[in-house]
Amino acid sequence: MRALYPGSFDPLTLGHLDLIERSARLFDSVVVAVLENPNKQAAFPLEQRLTQLRQATRHLSAVEVASFDGLTVEFASRCQAQVILRGLRALSDFEFELQIAHTNHSLAPQVETLFLATSVQHSFLSSSVVKEVARFGGNVRHLVPPAVAADLARLFNRVASESTRQDPHG
Ligand code: ADP
Repeated sequence: MRALYPGSFDPLTLGHLDLIERSARLFDSVVVAVLENPNKQAAFPLEQRLTQLRQATRHLSAVEVASFDGLTVEFASRCQAQVILRGLRALSDFEFELQIAHTNHSLAPQVETLFLATSVQHSFLSSSVVKEVARFGGNVRHLVPPAVAADLARLFNRVASESTRQDPHG
């Protein structure tokens, strides 16, 4: 069976990677797909997020990396995935995820949504938290793959040096 794991992955965290590794043991193949959402201002361009995913999943032969826009259920049909995979960290994820799952079911009843519980050590982790820590110079090496930690450092060094340059007193 083939699964689709969609998300923003802005950036990829060890929580996402844990879910990818566990799902690769459950399914014949897993398509990890970055959603291109024009309404969401991403910190990392699509190509960079794809590179982060490709690098981090190189050791997983069952995993493919892709991008898509539009409806997730349509992309699931296009890539012949029978299952949409999502992670649940806490009760706060549940309401939103259930709404999406019901909507997707109403659009394409043949595609099942499957939730995997996040590993306890990753349950506090989100892309937003990682960006907040990195923005203020905190250590993120235990939260993201090494290449993503380097990308975050570059991003926020650039942002910091741009704002210093714009500040006439800086
Ligand atoms: P979204 O798709 O909502 O923009 P993300 O790209 O962060 O958000 O997440 C994609 C999927 O990965 C979602 O199902 C989310 O619940 C799951 N996820 C996010 N963070 C973690 C984590 N720390 N551990 C496991 N799964 C996670």
